[in-house]
Amino acid sequence: MEFSSKLLENAVNEMSQLPGVGKRTALRLVLHLLRQPTTQTLDFANALSTMRTEIKFCKSCHNISDTDMCEICANPNRIEDVVCVVEDIRDVMAIENTSSFKGLYHVLGGKISPMDGIGPNELNIQSLVEKVKQGVVKELIFALGSTMEGDTTNFYIYKQIQDYDVKTSTIARGISVGNELEYTDEVTLGRSIINRIPFEASLKS
Ligand SMILES: [Zn+2]
Repeated sequence: MEFSSKLLENAVNEMSQLPGVGKRTALRLVLHLLRQPTTQTLDFANALSTMRTEIKFCKSCHNISDTDMCEICANPNRIEDVVCVVEDIRDVMAIENTSSFKGLYHVLGGKISPMDGIGPNELNIQSLVEKVKQGVVKELIFALGSTMEGDTTNFYIYKQIQDYDVKTSTIARGISVGNELEYTDEVTLGRSIINRIPFEASLKS
């Protein structure tokens, strides 16, 4: 692709770093931004840069937050000894949408995936194990989806905490085969949280 402007080329190159955005799409989007009023394009750029520099991760559950402690963890009406283990904020949003869960979350930041070089140390697992060791968690609900990586991660965490006094359960299997939680419909997801099954039982099936 030949550009008459280096500035345009730079913007297109940056835009095409986004997943699923090829050079042609990037050019179309950049030209769109160029046609917009200057203030609108600057607002867009500012929103991205402010988000990137100012966003925080909750010091308790690791969810994306604007404050040191996220709104869910800071809410006194939540049941703080029931913790739902999820991969990322999209799962938190999906489960919150069901209004079926009043406990807290623990956001791992991914799943164990040796193929992608993601081991337990790359994830927020140790802080979860610490919470269990300190006795502040009575029940852990695994909600990682039934992929091989999800199963591996669940089992790894289970092994770390099985000697402690904590109940483990998992959302009903099969609801998210081949799909992530965010794509599961609210009713099904909500029901699977309410009807969660003991983790040990899921290992036998
Ligand atoms: Zn939090």
